[in-house]
Amino acid sequence: MSELLLNYINGSWQRADAPYQSVRNPATAEVIAEVPLTPAEVVAQAVEGAHAAFQEWRHVPAAERVQYLFRFKFLLEDALDDLARTITNECGKTHAESIAELQRGIENVETACGVPLLMQGYNNEDVARGIDEHMIRQPLGVVAAITPFNFPAMIPLWFLPYAIATGNTFILKPSERTPMTSAKLFALLDQLKLPKGVLQLVNGSKVTVDALLDHPLVRAISFVGSTPVAKYVYSRAAANGKRAQCQGGAKNPVVIMPGAEMEMATRIVADSAFGCAGQRCLASSVAITVGAARQAFAESIAEAALNRVVGYGLDEGVQMGAVISAESKARIERLIGQGASEGAQLLVDGRGKTVRGYEAGYWVFPTVLDGVPPESQLAQIEIFGPVLSLMHARDLDEAIRLVNARSYGNMACIFTSSGAAARQFRAQAHAGNIGINVGVAAPMAFYPFSGWGESFFGDLHAQGKHGVEFYTQTKVVVERWHSGWSRQF
Ligand code: NAD
Repeated sequence: MSELLLNYINGSWQRADAPYQSVRNPATAEVIAEVPLTPAEVVAQAVEGAHAAFQEWRHVPAAERVQYLFRFKFLLEDALDDLARTITNECGKTHAESIAELQRGIENVETACGVPLLMQGYNNEDVARGIDEHMIRQPLGVVAAITPFNFPAMIPLWFLPYAIATGNTFILKPSERTPMTSAKLFALLDQLKLPKGVLQLVNGSKVTVDALLDHPLVRAISFVGSTPVAKYVYSRAAANGKRAQCQGGAKNPVVIMPGAEMEMATRIVADSAFGCAGQRCLASSVAITVGAARQAFAESIAEAALNRVVGYGLDEGVQMGAVISAESKARIERLIGQGASEGAQLLVDGRGKTVRGYEAGYWVFPTVLDGVPPESQLAQIEIFGPVLSLMHARDLDEAIRLVNARSYGNMACIFTSSGAAARQFRAQAHAGNIGINVGVAAPMAFYPFSGWGESFFGDLHAQGKHGVEFYTQTKVVVERWHSGWSRQF
């Protein structure tokens, strides 16, 4: 039976007078929920409630604010399996992948518990005779995050804990394709008995997002999603005078050097390219083999693609789930066909496949295309599916030129046994997250998630100290007190 989802506004669950959209389980195509597409008037109520709550919340000492987060961490851990099942059912990934995503989210809750230390300012005594100067950090006010479908727990948790720990009030607008996880997260948050209005959940799509972008009381916008929408959100937020951090799409290359440990490289690249059905902004989608690495890697990655077990993410032994929607499946299959027509050779073709017992699901099996021309569309475009394109380079310099010939800059990786090659790659690759013998270079919560180029618009990234800086404004105080002290004491 499908569940009717609600918004969470001013401490209570509310039914929206709004059009509803169906949420489907990608493995079965069954409708599992109906999500409201919240209109601007209701968004305004959420913003105004958050603004009212901010007046008190900002004065609650940081050490007290983080006590809620300590409790939230334990509630998340107790609910791990239930949350993971929800993620798998609405997003399609495997249960193990859902657990892993939750753990990365919880890491952010833990890191934000350090906010009393992380948001400290600094000061100097006697910047001039009898004058002291201080820098303090203050919260912004109402802040909002707009998140994508592919990590429905982790990505909201890149923002929410830092935002409220630093004294802001926070509104989440989750993906309308995977909103059930947020409803579960907010059911846990409701148990914390935070002051009403500190956390708000508004469901919806473009209309809801635009209402947040245009409301004058929203001070900052965090966004994660595709590049065209990231650019749009960044420019509209900026035009309205808001602070914004917008993470976009990706096309991540991995370089395989001769002499790399081939069995390890194959296993890790296969996990990176096909894990989460390739629907990960840190998925490796282009593998560039250098010199003699070409044949061995092409053979072993093709075998790994063929052997990957695809199915419903809650079934035992499944290694890869479905893609998010019928439209997404059709788009990925069309791009695979386009790659073949642009001159690539299909080593493994994952189109037109199905899983027994789940024939209605949105299945695309692992696909490997060899000899993808660097100038082809397939080499540039984000496919966001389990598709790996192979390219070849004579030497590391040429491989790095291919790595840098993309507009995206989320991640670049190298597999090598040479420290010199790794060092050159680290210095010259144009990407903000670098992996060395690592296939998904996801920064821990205490490092910034450092996309570059078309993968990020803004300057302060999500997570860690960047998150704290993004959600606070600096205030500098220059201070003189008349005193009759003696200069000798
Ligand atoms: P999306 O851009 O379609 O949607 C993201 C969010 O924007 C959703 O909440 C959606 O409701 C909203 N939205 C969509 N269209 C809009 C519009 N026209 N106006 C205003 N709001 C709009 O992205 P998606 O398909 O949910 O997620 C996949 C994308 O996210 C991929 O491109 C992936 O690379 C990217 N992603 C990036 C990162 C990163 O860290 N850089 C992380 C995860 C996902």
